[in-house]
Amino acid sequence: MPRAIDLWMVLRNRLEPSERAAFFIDKKKIMYYNKNTVVYLDGKWVKSKETSASLYGQSLHYGLGVFEGIRSYKTEDGPMIFKAREHFERLHYSARKMHINLPYTVDELTELSYELLYRNNLEDAYIRPLVYMGENMSLQTDKQSHVLLCAWEWERYLGDGQLNVMTSSFQRPNPKSCFVEAKVTGHYTNSILATNQAKRAGYDEALLLDMNGHVAEGSGANFFYEKDNILFTAPKGNILQGITRQTIFELAKEFGYQVVEKYFTPKDVYQADGAFFTGTAAEVAGIKSIDYNYFKLPWEQTMGFELASAYKNRVQKKEYKNFELV
Ligand code: PMP
Repeated sequence: MPRAIDLWMVLRNRLEPSERAAFFIDKKKIMYYNKNTVVYLDGKWVKSKETSASLYGQSLHYGLGVFEGIRSYKTEDGPMIFKAREHFERLHYSARKMHINLPYTVDELTELSYELLYRNNLEDAYIRPLVYMGENMSLQTDKQSHVLLCAWEWERYLGDGQLNVMTSSFQRPNPKSCFVEAKVTGHYTNSILATNQAKRAGYDEALLLDMNGHVAEGSGANFFYEKDNILFTAPKGNILQGITRQTIFELAKEFGYQVVEKYFTPKDVYQADGAFFTGTAAEVAGIKSIDYNYFKLPWEQTMGFELASAYKNRVQKKEYKNFELV
């Protein structure tokens, strides 16, 4: 895996400054792209405004596509894509499960992503790789796929405050009906139903159960709760195995915090001291209440809060510098 800083230096030498699109963002409205935004589409760098996709595509009609959500962070050494390898390995896993051809290696996808950031003048950004299918109304995967890489500036998905969460009446898909561990576009209609339901009822986010009534995860994030200084989260099987979830395991180990993967119900969570969601877009987001049951500890006194700060430092590569200051 090439080092981010080396890739950045190569891009600086290879591309003219005029090849970097000016990117601005209106804080009130999410700008996914503007007239200068460049995307990588099927082997070419093209202006986002000048691209098109067929109305007869299998992804549009049936939800057959695989994607990733990745963040890059501005650091003193230039932008750093956090856990690029893990994300692109998961993209390959998702593609394989759906029999979708993905003719790029993990390293190639990583290098292209750095070039995407460079060309769009982005550092703190959200990168969205999408592998989608062309014209085909049959229910069989075609050999040919399309590969898109695009990026934009995106605030934390669930915001910076603590969340009021409702247990959704929508369950996560049964793992015998699909590959829940694959990030497939069509799976997200389930997340959209749950989010719409929660928002319409006045909550910030939904918590979804699995087909056995155990807590699985949020609409786009994994879920942890803490009780008597132990962290609990759902085991793999009925969830998307988040890369942020894995990072929390790593950080918890460094802190000496115990994490237990087990099945639990909303009732177990009502008794908890605190809880949080984890995801690339949401990062580590504190939860205030579930179904109007408020947690015992204020967020600032929880293990989740400690882990949220540690996560911020890790993604921005600030740990070493903090260590030096101590
Ligand atoms: N669960 C679901 C359903 C998701 O969409 C996401 C976001 N990819 C996650 C969990 C968290 O995964 P990650 O930490 O890899 O972003």
